[in-house]
Amino acid sequence: PALANQIAAGEVIERPSSVVKELLENAIDAGATQLTIRIEQGGTTLIEIIDNGFGIHPEDLPLAVMRHATSKVRSSEELSAIQSLGFRGEALASVAAVSRLTLSSSQTDDGIGYQIELHGAALERERASAIAMNRGTHVRVQDLFFNVPARRKFLKRIATEYQHIEEIVRRMALTHFDIHFVLEHNDHIRLNLPVADSGELRYQRVLQLLGRQFAENAYWIDAEANGMHLAGWLGHPSDARAQADMQYIYVNGLKKKKKKKKKKKKKAYDGILHGHQHSAYLLFLEIDPHEIDVNVHPTKHEIRFLNQREVHEFVRHFARDTLSQFQT
Ligand code: ADP
Ligand code: MG
Repeated sequence: PALANQIAAGEVIERPSSVVKELLENAIDAGATQLTIRIEQGGTTLIEIIDNGFGIHPEDLPLAVMRHATSKVRSSEELSAIQSLGFRGEALASVAAVSRLTLSSSQTDDGIGYQIELHGAALERERASAIAMNRGTHVRVQDLFFNVPARRKFLKRIATEYQHIEEIVRRMALTHFDIHFVLEHNDHIRLNLPVADSGELRYQRVLQLLGRQFAENAYWIDAEANGMHLAGWLGHPSDARAQADMQYIYVNGLKKKKKKKKKKKKKAYDGILHGHQHSAYLLFLEIDPHEIDVNVHPTKHEIRFLNQREVHEFVRHFARDTLSQFQT
C-alpha cells in the first residue's frame, strides 16, 4: 500500500504548487475568510496554510488523511483502477504519502485545537494531541517528496516552483474577493490582499495581481443575455506586453478555464476573443451549471460547454463591442 500510495500521490501531487492548490480548495470549502500561505524554498521544505474555516472534528482528523481505496490497490496492474477513482476525496492522503504532514484544527472558540502528525502517511501517534490555536485549520507540509527521489529530481529551481505557487494563489484570489489572502515566501510578504468588498478594493486587488498597466487601462464589461452573465476587465488592445499568461476566464466562480498557450487547446478557445488573442483579460462568466461539463479534467482547468457555439458567440459579441469602443 505504501508504494501504491506514493504512485497515486504522484499523479495528483506533481509539484509544490499542486499541494497549495489542493489545500487552498479545502480551506475555501471550509468557508475560510482569512488565509495565510507560508512557503519556504519554493515549497520544497515548507508549505503552511492557516485558515479560519469551520475546522475538522478531533475524531475526524485521522480520517481526513486516509485514502479510501488504498487497501484495494496491491499491484501496478491495478493502478488503472486508481485513475478511475479520479482521486476525489484523496488530496490530503496524497500529500501525506509524500511528506511530513501536520494537521491541526479547532472547531471551537476556547483556544484549543487538536493536532496529528504523519511521516509518509504513517501516524506518529495514535491519538490527536491538544494544542493552543484559534478556530480553523493549519496544514503544515514539510519536506515534500522526501521519499520520492524521482519526483524530487524533476523539481525546478526554487524561484520557478515559487512562481507556480504564486500563480495558483493569484487565480484563487482573483475569484475570491471575499477572502483575505496573505502569501509569504521565505519570511517575506509577497501578497497581502484584504477582503475586497468595495469597487476600490477590487480595483486594488486587480492592480496587485495583474499590474498597473492592466488595471489602469482595462475596460469593464458587464452584460447579460440568454441566461448568461459576463462581467470583468478587458485589457486595452494596445497594451504592448501581449500577455498570454494574463488571460483568465472564470466560469461560475471556482470552475475555471484559462486560455492555454498549448496550440491544440488554444484552437478550441480561439473563438472567444478572435483577433485579440494578445489582450489580457479577467472575465467572469455565469452560466446555468447544466450547460457545462466540468469533468473534462480533474483539475478543472478546462471545462466543456454543452452549447460551445452559443457561449463563444456571447463572449465574443460583448468583447468585440467593448474593443470597438477603444478604437473611437
Ligand atoms: P476532499 O476535499 O475531496 O473531500 P481532501 O483529501 O482534500 O478531500 O480532504 C479530506 C477531508 O478533510 C475533507 O473532505 C474535509 O472534511 C477535511 N478537510 C481538509 N482540509 C480542511 C480544512 N482546511 N478545513 C476543514 N476541513 C478540511
Ligand atoms: Mg480537497
